[in-house]
Amino acid sequence: MKLIDPPGTSKRELRFSGHPISPGIGIGPVYEATEPALQFSPRKIAAADSAAELARLEEAVATSRRQLQKLKAKLASLPEQSQTEISPLIDAYLHMLGNSRLLRGARARISDGLKAPESAMMEEADAQAEAILALTGSDHEGRVRRAEEVREIARRVLRNLTRLPFRSFADSAPGTILVAEFLRPADAALIRPEKFAGVVTAEGGADGHTAVMLRALGVPAVLGAAGVLEAAQPGTLAIVDGEAGEVILNPSGRSLEAAKERLAARSRTLRALARLQRVPAETTDHVLIDLQANLELPFELPMIAESGAHGIGLMRSEFIFMNRETLPDEDAQTEIYRDIVEAMDGDPVTIRVLDWGSDKEVEALSGYTAGAAESNPALGLRGIRLLLRHPDLFETQLAAIFRAGAAGPVKIMLPMVGFLRECEAAWEIYERVWRRLKRRNVRMAESKPPMGIMIETPAAALAASHLAKHAEFFAIGTNDLTMYTLAADRSLPMGTKLYDPLEPTILRLIYETGVAGHAAKIPVSVCGELASRPEAAPLLVGLGMRQLSMHGAAIPRVKRAIRAVSLRHCREIAAAALAAVDADSVRLLLD
Ligand code: PEP
Ligand code: MG
Repeated sequence: MKLIDPPGTSKRELRFSGHPISPGIGIGPVYEATEPALQFSPRKIAAADSAAELARLEEAVATSRRQLQKLKAKLASLPEQSQTEISPLIDAYLHMLGNSRLLRGARARISDGLKAPESAMMEEADAQAEAILALTGSDHEGRVRRAEEVREIARRVLRNLTRLPFRSFADSAPGTILVAEFLRPADAALIRPEKFAGVVTAEGGADGHTAVMLRALGVPAVLGAAGVLEAAQPGTLAIVDGEAGEVILNPSGRSLEAAKERLAARSRTLRALARLQRVPAETTDHVLIDLQANLELPFELPMIAESGAHGIGLMRSEFIFMNRETLPDEDAQTEIYRDIVEAMDGDPVTIRVLDWGSDKEVEALSGYTAGAAESNPALGLRGIRLLLRHPDLFETQLAAIFRAGAAGPVKIMLPMVGFLRECEAAWEIYERVWRRLKRRNVRMAESKPPMGIMIETPAAALAASHLAKHAEFFAIGTNDLTMYTLAADRSLPMGTKLYDPLEPTILRLIYETGVAGHAAKIPVSVCGELASRPEAAPLLVGLGMRQLSMHGAAIPRVKRAIRAVSLRHCREIAAAALAAVDADSVRLLLD
């Protein structure tokens, strides 16, 4: 009989792959992110509610089963050794989510004991875990493990029953590798880069907002590394290669040496790239490309200053609203924007007004929701659609931006525009707020800051020539543009091969938006994640883009790519890419 180590206790090297998110190599012990969702107060329910509460439990169980089945399917792509470690555990979990003693007990506690599902599930799991531990026999370790498995599956159901807004990483030791099933963007915003050597999640896509945040943080990160959570234990030594998208647990001496060599090579490359800070981003035939920075979190500012960026092309203002219970008022917002504008020392700061909705949860705004829960939040009220429904939020933000404009050049950007009427309505509010501040003699920008729009829905790209009459600039958001055009979520796992900004359909929309913008004589930039990929820079230049905005750390590499090509060559690549049949053919061209 083949002996299998209990998952998580093996000392053998295990390899996992996922989306490469932010370059760099991290080596350190695993820190497992704790789930705050496990805090709940025991609650009794009325007999009349027991059917509804039972249904809530069944829904959470069904979600848990779906999660595990998805994980099981993903395991097929892992090396055999990693599969052998994890598969039996997933099967055990799935078994417990079938017609098991655990679920029968939890249901009885709801219908007979009138306990809320959260208490019922945890109490039943604790009772069964205690019973397993009380058994006698020689395999003590096995009993401890089984008891923990029962509690773990109950915790999963509980996580799906109660969803708390964010978790705390306060108890992590410096230099550890954060491993979590998934991170919400608001969770990622709480990560302090100096605390973690790397970040790994089992769920998550390449261009989701969590990925965007992690790139901004500059911590080596791999998302969507299926199976890693089951195999890792707190303290397990891990290597995270954010460039190759690889995670190694219990690395062999050889793997450790190789990782250290790559780390040294990376430091040499970074030193060479730093020398590019002051040279212009121009093609070999002297076409200047304006490289700007995206800002997700204020502490990126020093790094942006060092990156050689000419201003901020996209400041995602969501961070101001996340992880807090009350909304920041006009004064508080003014101060935050002003600090950023001052730090940029005369370079323009493009502030995108709150793009809230879809996967960006903003707790403080929970009272502001559209009403009925949306079954498809990415296709519902998001970005400008929500702001126009709650003009008080929009007005406060506009007023704060106008006031911050006294400290340096600011621009205003509208997210998720799909209809011309949204631009018209936004301008009306803009004028009203400007007049109000003027009347009150408030200190603010001398002239009206330009207001432009994100082109991130197919509708906006196709209507660009009309929208150009109502916008002073365009910024192409390739993340959402790809998601909405291909009907493929930007957080999809890598293996699905559905979400891909290099699809020629997306390139055509970028090109057409550029043509419309240039005809209307307004600047057009790209600020989605595609702009940060050095291999895509010649293509974007060839498609007519002269302004790219990306996370600060990407600027030197993109600059190096631009300085190596001529405009003629870029145009040839773009023409071939526009005529290509799929993203793979485009990738071949870029290679
Ligand atoms: C985009 O969609 O490409 C974009 C830049 O906006 P966000 O990633 O914040 O949705
Ligand atoms: Mg977007």
